[in-house]
Amino acid sequence: MNKHKALILLSGGLDSLVALDYSIKHLNYDVLLALTFDYGQKSAEKEIETSAKICHYYGIRHKVITLDWLKEITKTGLVSENMIPETNFHTPESASSVWVPNRNALFLNIAGSFCDAIGYEYIIYGGNKEEGETFPDNTENFRKKVSDLFKTSTLVHPEVTAPLINYNKDDIVRIAVRDSVPLEFVWSCYNKGSKHCGKCESCNNLKKALITNQCERYLNILFENEK
Ligand SMILES: [Zn+2]
Repeated sequence: MNKHKALILLSGGLDSLVALDYSIKHLNYDVLLALTFDYGQKSAEKEIETSAKICHYYGIRHKVITLDWLKEITKTGLVSENMIPETNFHTPESASSVWVPNRNALFLNIAGSFCDAIGYEYIIYGGNKEEGETFPDNTENFRKKVSDLFKTSTLVHPEVTAPLINYNKDDIVRIAVRDSVPLEFVWSCYNKGSKHCGKCESCNNLKKALITNQCERYLNILFENEK
């Protein structure tokens, strides 16, 4: 059976890395291209470096897309040096403190242009149940609506797929451990640094899931002061 040609939105975080691995190992996808976005987020350099390593590991072409204008109009702790993202879990405040205007829809539409130009059938992204509780652009409803849009906005009609949409972070780490996903590559922190800060919401969520799954090794590799 022919494999489905796909591209992936890759930030190098837990969700996109496991979505990539899952698509290769459990779904019939031939992932040929990964897009990583630089919109001035504090973690941009780490995300690009991490994504490049992941692409090298899986043998995927990597393309970085820079969106300077998105940095200019984004006024939250994700890009602003003076603002600290909220550390509370899954609240409207925590979502708005890291919100980037129309981000996932924008990234998927850019991916849609690539698919339309080169004939790829699927766009994989890391949307999942836990993020969906905080971010409306991580839900099944959103995934389906963008797929529907591509039926009229493209000639190729790529489908947006989110293999982890029914899983929370604990499940995602459990799948990663089961499938020997190289979690040592992950960069999920909203901040920059040599290791994860361990303080932002994204770090807290990752840490909690690693602890639940007894991943001492990855806690030590990824986080400051875990020894
Ligand atoms: Zn962090």
